[in-house]
Amino acid sequence: MTSYKDLGLVNTREMFAKAVKGGYAIPAFNFNTMEQMQAIVQAAVETKSPVIMQVSKGARKYANATILRYMAQGAVEYAKELGCPNPQIVLHLDHGDSFELCKDCIDMGFSSVMIDGSSLPYEENIALTKKVVDYAHKYDVTVEAELGVLAGVEDEVASEVSHYTKPEEVIDFAKRSGCDSLAISIGTSHGAYKFKPEQCTRDPKTGKLVPPPLAFDVLHAIEKKLPGFPIVLHGSSSVPQDEVDTINKFGGKLPDAVGIPEEQLREASKSAVCKINIDSDSRLAMTAAIRKYLAENPAHFDPRQYLTPARENMKKMYIHKIVNVLGSNDKL
Ligand SMILES: [Zn+2]
Repeated sequence: MTSYKDLGLVNTREMFAKAVKGGYAIPAFNFNTMEQMQAIVQAAVETKSPVIMQVSKGARKYANATILRYMAQGAVEYAKELGCPNPQIVLHLDHGDSFELCKDCIDMGFSSVMIDGSSLPYEENIALTKKVVDYAHKYDVTVEAELGVLAGVEDEVASEVSHYTKPEEVIDFAKRSGCDSLAISIGTSHGAYKFKPEQCTRDPKTGKLVPPPLAFDVLHAIEKKLPGFPIVLHGSSSVPQDEVDTINKFGGKLPDAVGIPEEQLREASKSAVCKINIDSDSRLAMTAAIRKYLAENPAHFDPRQYLTPARENMKKMYIHKIVNVLGSNDKL
């Protein structure tokens, strides 16, 4: 058993309380590689932002759970080395799908876990979440639960359609499960293809797809039921069109990839939404930079040559999100 406290990590409790009160949201960036981790830490340190580094089941499979755990510990030390004496870094399990997986992460030094019982019947979701909460709280680890179903594909999580969270269920769910934060479904979606073209309108000037707006009425109804309770948005990448264009220009093929407009995320950040998950945008930033570099430098083969601009491009994106979308800068 390793306590996250010994690794210099923090849980989400105080971080979320401050974010809800301050009208901003904490970035939750997924990471799988050293370059992503470095870019996340550099961005958080330079902007003086708290940050949630999250690991999915797929990341554990790709990079090895033990390595990721030591990387998170390394992230804390790296932040200090970069001149941040008290970094606020959470190591979070994204989409835990069983009690055993959550327990394994808690025992390994994670400071926060998500148990995603959203595909289960309501009562089973409560029971599973409560089981994880009871274990996690013994070690002061915070727990995110999910109510409502997001559309889209993310690693092993996939759904054809979305079901908005029912505001009339949230009080009962939060009370009986004991969760510390709640991921809700208000129209965000996993992946780089968040909406089908038929769900969107097309901008006549650019020819780009314009996605349907988020259900702010559902968000506000939930906020009214649970005043100040930390709310989480998954699937909140914006799928920047300049990155998609770069990928397509240099041999990629991502037609009609579309995300959540940043103005809507900015508006959500001012509400009780205090954690916003961004994964696809990092993948796009990395891939765009690598494709461009390799196309322009066909004779280069040292991975450090093309991973350097990839890391820079991800860092630029992370800083942009922190400062211009979530507003979590200058909070340390
Ligand atoms: Zn998610």
